Amino acid sequence: MEKNSISQIHTTPSLQGRAEGGSAFLYVHRQEAGYRPVHDRIHDFGEVEQTLNTRERKLQASRCMDCGVPFCHWACPLGNKPPEWNDALARGEWERAYQLLSATNPFPEFTGRVCPALCEKACVLNRFNHEPTTNREDEAAITEGAFRERFIQPRIPQRNGTHVAVIGSGPAGLAAADALNQMGYAVTVFEKDEAPGGLLRYGIPNFKLNKAIIDRRIHVLEAEGIEFKYNCPVSSAAIPSQHNLSFSAIIVATGTPTARDLDIPGRSLGGIHLALELLSQQNRVLAGQEFSKEERITARGKDVLVIGGGDTGSDCIGTAHRQGARSVTQIEIMPRPVEGPDDPQNPWPAYPRTLKTTSSHEEGCTRRWNINTLEFLSADGKHVSGVKVQEIEWQANPAGGRPLMVAKGEPEVIKAELVLLAMGFLKPEHPQYPENVFVCGDAANGASLVVRAIASGRETALKVHDYLSKLTMDNG
Ligand SMILES: Cc1cc2nc3c(=O)[nH]c(=O)nc-3n(C[C@H](O)[C@H](O)[C@H](O)COP(=O)(O)OP(=O)(O)OC[C@H]3O[C@@H](n4cnc5c(N)ncnc54)[C@H](O)[C@@H]3O)c2cc1C
Ligand code: SF4
Repeated sequence: MEKNSISQIHTTPSLQGRAEGGSAFLYVHRQEAGYRPVHDRIHDFGEVEQTLNTRERKLQASRCMDCGVPFCHWACPLGNKPPEWNDALARGEWERAYQLLSATNPFPEFTGRVCPALCEKACVLNRFNHEPTTNREDEAAITEGAFRERFIQPRIPQRNGTHVAVIGSGPAGLAAADALNQMGYAVTVFEKDEAPGGLLRYGIPNFKLNKAIIDRRIHVLEAEGIEFKYNCPVSSAAIPSQHNLSFSAIIVATGTPTARDLDIPGRSLGGIHLALELLSQQNRVLAGQEFSKEERITARGKDVLVIGGGDTGSDCIGTAHRQGARSVTQIEIMPRPVEGPDDPQNPWPAYPRTLKTTSSHEEGCTRRWNINTLEFLSADGKHVSGVKVQEIEWQANPAGGRPLMVAKGEPEVIKAELVLLAMGFLKPEHPQYPENVFVCGDAANGASLVVRAIASGRETALKVHDYLSKLTMDNG
């Protein structure tokens, strides 16, 4: 099957094909909107992803086969139903598409931008020819259409007189607050930061998620009656005594506040930062906040080393490029993942753990694997100037258990005036809370994904509702 060109698109009866039972996948190929060109996007923090025009978007939606066994339902932590809303989208029924989408996903404008699209990996078309449907982009397009056409209006629920507190306004807290608010509870969200969104706002760079997208949704939630209190940290130790009197239930959605650090010689040198120190400051700068020269973390004119090969590391790379880094290197202690699209260790419909090249990697970066970090070095005794690293290999452990890390060759020095530690987050521990306190999102499960945080927030809201309903019945 040849790749479709625009001229082919205009001559294929694909939308009709969809209406006749979804056979468009036979002659319409997957088409992603793609990113803005590197030379254009590298100088600003605007979103890198582009959008398809309406006709092409509908054409993409028409490729969905409406499988008898839709693995996408199973793969999406929210249980989103792409076949249903892709069908509505393909027919141009935008409002119905949004109704179907928002039935399971309260914030598709977030997942439509940053979800790794677990559903697409599980799509039968991915198994068939590695051209799954474009669910994530379709989701974003449906939601942007819904905002544009004003299908999204505040829904004011009837109140039931019961008050619930949510601590933390990341995607998990927002999802829990939204679900409970729609059930009629009076919800107050306590947020330690100056603005809502959690890692959506102070982790994920603007070039992946413009913060106006968060503000737009918060305005709807406020209009629906959720009360937000900012600059309002609630200590976990103080929860039962501070709030149980005023709230019938409390949801803790405080994320994973502690990043994994690297306690090796030289760690106290200037120029070595946790990834979120850079990312959150950059997002705050873009929101208009000012930082002194001493406080400001910048990659401008520097050789940058990112330690950690995951998505947070990738966001550091994109940020360093936009700040004007001289060079960017990313090292990872684990081996290089297999080249995709298939992962023999993790076959379809599971999510493949294959080599991922993000938009930030495309912008230029040296990537190395099997590299252990030994020591931070300094030429002036104050600031980092290089990092001593050691290539390693992983060998099977004869005693069983974790593989052994074995040095390979001599240590070497990577020149770096800015080092960013992107090695993940510790799973938080919680005290024994009273029975009316519920934990959700990353705070409960450890660092994960926006879609999982939203799903966890919704599930927890149902648990709170069950708990409070039983309480009312027992007391009534
Ligand atoms: C740099 C980075 C990039 C990422 N990119 C992606 C991506 O592209 N796609 C994706 O799916 N996932 C991504 N993730 C993961 C995703 O952002 C998280 O899994 C998700 O935000 C977790 O949601 P949450 O609500 O549980 O926690 P968080 O988003 O961490 O929100 C927790 C909130 O609780 C507040 N809080 C904490 N303590 C208190 C307290 N004591 N009192 C009051 N408030 C408190 C915090 O200020 C914060 O607002 C990324 C993560 C990082 C770090
Ligand atoms: S939230 Fe993610 S996994 Fe779920 S349908 Fe959307 S893109 Fe797919």
